[in-house]
Amino acid sequence: MVAVPMEQRSYTTGTKRFLAGCSILLISISLYPLSPAPQIRPSIHARQVLEAYRRAYPDRIESVAWQNNDWVIQIQGELFYWAQGRLLPESHRERWQEYKPYVFYLYPDDAPAPQNYTAERIAELERIGSAEHQMNGPDHHNGFRSALYGGAKRGDVERNLVKVRFLGKTISVHAMIQEQVLRIDERIRGFAKTDSDVAQFLTNLGSIGGYNWREIRGTSRISMHSFGLAIDIQPKRLGSKAIYWQWEAERNPQWMLVSQSNRWAPPEAVIKAFEAEGFVWGGKWDLYDQMHFEYRPELHEISKLYMIFSTLQKYGIGGE
Ligand SMILES: [Zn+2]
Repeated sequence: MVAVPMEQRSYTTGTKRFLAGCSILLISISLYPLSPAPQIRPSIHARQVLEAYRRAYPDRIESVAWQNNDWVIQIQGELFYWAQGRLLPESHRERWQEYKPYVFYLYPDDAPAPQNYTAERIAELERIGSAEHQMNGPDHHNGFRSALYGGAKRGDVERNLVKVRFLGKTISVHAMIQEQVLRIDERIRGFAKTDSDVAQFLTNLGSIGGYNWREIRGTSRISMHSFGLAIDIQPKRLGSKAIYWQWEAERNPQWMLVSQSNRWAPPEAVIKAFEAEGFVWGGKWDLYDQMHFEYRPELHEISKLYMIFSTLQKYGIGGE
C-alpha cells in the first residue's frame, strides 16, 4: 500500500513540509549507480527527484506538483509526468511501459571498491554489462531532456553550442555550462601551481572532447555528449591502465574487478573541481568511464537532500 500525498498545490514553497514528507524514503535511493532505484513508495521517490531537478535548474523549472494522480514537473511551460520514472508528457503517460526509465542515484563520495564486491554484485555487473543488455530494450522518451536542455535533435542541439578554451584546448559545449567549464579550467590551472599531481596531469593531457553527436545504431538513443553536456579527458599515455569498462571488457571478462590502482584517474583535485560545478565523474560508476564528466546538478541536489533528511532522522525529526 502506497501512501499518496493528496495535495494539489504547486510545490514551489514549503521546504519544511517537503522534508517532513520524504525523510524515510530517501534511504530507498539506490546507492549503486546504474542499478535501478527500488520501487518502494514510488510517489514520494518521484517528488524528491523532481524537487532535486527544480533546485538544480531554478531558471528553467517552474514547479513540481501533484496532479492527475502523479507528480508533475513544469519545464519552460511544458508538463512532464513522473510516469514510473519515465518522465513523459501527458500524451504519452499511459504508454509508460514502452520507455526506458531514467535512473537516479546517490552520487557517492568515493569510487567503488571492487575488492569488496560480492558474488551477487559481480554477477549483476556481468548481466548489466552484457552486449545484450546494452542494445536491447526500450529507449527514453526524449521530451523531458529536450525541454530541459533546449532541444534533443541535432540541429537544435547545435544551435545551443558555444566554443570554450579548456585546459589549453578548444571544445564545444552547451551554452548552459559555459561559465561552469571556464571556472573549472581556472581552478585546475590554479591547483597546478602548487599540486604536482595536477601539474603532471596537465603535462600528460592527450585529447579533450566535449560535444559529439552520437546515436547508437540508428536509434534515438543519445548520450550526454550529444547535448554538449559531457567532457572526456584522456591522457597521452595510458600504459596498462583501464580507462573505460567496455574497452576493458573486450580483453578482460573480469573488467569489473580491475582495482582502482589499475584504473587511470584524473587527480582528486580535478574531480573535485568538476563536482563543485555540478558535474559527476564516470569513475564513480560501476560501469566505469574514467575519462568522463557530465553535468548532472540534480544528482548533487538528491545527495544534499539525503544528507538533510538523514540528519533530521538522527534527531528524531521528520519521520512519517
Ligand atoms: Zn564521455
